[in-house]
Amino acid sequence: MGYKVAIIGGGAAGFFTAINIAERTENVEITIYEASNKLLVKVLVSGGGRCNLTNTISEPTELIKNYPRGNDFLRPVFEKFSSNDTQDWFTSRGVALKTEEDGRVFPASNSSQSIYDCLVMAAKENGVKVTKNTRLLDFSKSGSKWKLTFKETQEEADFLVLATGSSPSIYKLLVAQKIDIIPPIPSLFTFNAKQHHQVSLAGVSVPNATTRIRQINTSKDFGPLLITHWGYSAPSILKLSAWYARDLSRMDYTFNLLINWNSYEIAELRKTFASFVTERPKDKVYSWRDHGLPKRLWQSLFSEANFREFTNWSEIGKKGIERLLTVLCAYDAPIKGKSTFKEEFVTAGGISLDKISVETFELDGFTNLYAAGEVLNIDAITGGFNFQAAWSAGYSISMAIASRINE
Ligand SMILES: Cc1cc2nc3c(=O)[nH]c(=O)nc-3n(C[C@H](O)[C@H](O)[C@H](O)COP(=O)(O)OP(=O)(O)OC[C@H]3O[C@@H](n4cnc5c(N)ncnc54)[C@H](O)[C@@H]3O)c2cc1C
Repeated sequence: MGYKVAIIGGGAAGFFTAINIAERTENVEITIYEASNKLLVKVLVSGGGRCNLTNTISEPTELIKNYPRGNDFLRPVFEKFSSNDTQDWFTSRGVALKTEEDGRVFPASNSSQSIYDCLVMAAKENGVKVTKNTRLLDFSKSGSKWKLTFKETQEEADFLVLATGSSPSIYKLLVAQKIDIIPPIPSLFTFNAKQHHQVSLAGVSVPNATTRIRQINTSKDFGPLLITHWGYSAPSILKLSAWYARDLSRMDYTFNLLINWNSYEIAELRKTFASFVTERPKDKVYSWRDHGLPKRLWQSLFSEANFREFTNWSEIGKKGIERLLTVLCAYDAPIKGKSTFKEEFVTAGGISLDKISVETFELDGFTNLYAAGEVLNIDAITGGFNFQAAWSAGYSISMAIASRINE
């Protein structure tokens, strides 16, 4: 055996990096060291057990728009290995894939086990060693070699790849090595209502809400919104949680969510309501049909605006119109706290990208030390983009290490 490559972490990033190095080199000892007694745990639970491994968006300039952290950095990375390459990689290794209407890509089996099996099998076929229950406790450079300290053993490696996800203990090790870490905080979560006025509407959803955070002027998102037993969920909420993860953390998750339930144009709606006052004064406000909302939600908003069922347009006055516009277009839901979304959550923060080579993912000032996956300050909204960042980083690292080995 010639060179030794040590990959720390048996998750998506670790396996993908190891396999791709193995496929490009010969006589190299590649070992994945995994702290726990299980491999690819997050792959197995991902996407509700289906593993949303990537997305059909593959044009780098479009793909990067899904990354609240890491977007500019990732553009050249995706130019080398994008979501279409991910699909080719898995299909060429026998995993049939399917695409959902919204562009998310899953194994056709609808089971994350297919991705697990593919990665474990490819690692085995390429001679990658995997050791479980082997937590890296420390590492240092001695000459040209990396010295690795595990609980029961010491190992040496020529190349070291950190693919440890968001493990807090590894951040401590990195800080001790003077590697810049952006403080880790949660991303992709749902919002808990402070006093949930809409708890009786749990289960009601709307497809086209616009959501904002009152305390953040620039915040705005669009998409489905679900009222839950504890607050608000669904894509428009998860996207806000990701894009404003750091602001929301600073606010200790106490803020006001403003909901425009059907993305109404407020000025247009004001004109429409004013015209009803003169054109259909005797019609009941409650009978207005064009709100486009589930009946129970409309009923509830209507009564929150303090109208009675028999109130007609001639009675509501300017103040009444403004009250109606407020509940429809800027419904104010005080939020206190967050909950984890059942299908996906990630950590924002990690190794600062300022210290990472965009070509190779090597750490600045640390020859032959690389990092891939969630350990980096890269994270995405839901849709298969988090895995895509891990696959693309793994690919870049494998090219870099293989080219040094094959020099
Ligand atoms: C419930 C859930 C569902 C998700 N669903 C999706 C989805 O459908 N699509 C998507 O794109 N993303 C999804 N994600 C996010 C995605 O799973 C992560 O972005 C991805 O798994 C990160 O891969 P990773 O290899 O960097 O880290 P991880 O998968 O966290 O793997 C890191 C590994 O390193 C090991 N480790 C840590 N420290 C050490 C150490 N000191 N020594 C040795 N080993 C160590 C850990 O035990 C772990 O096995 C989901 C996340 C969750 C939590």
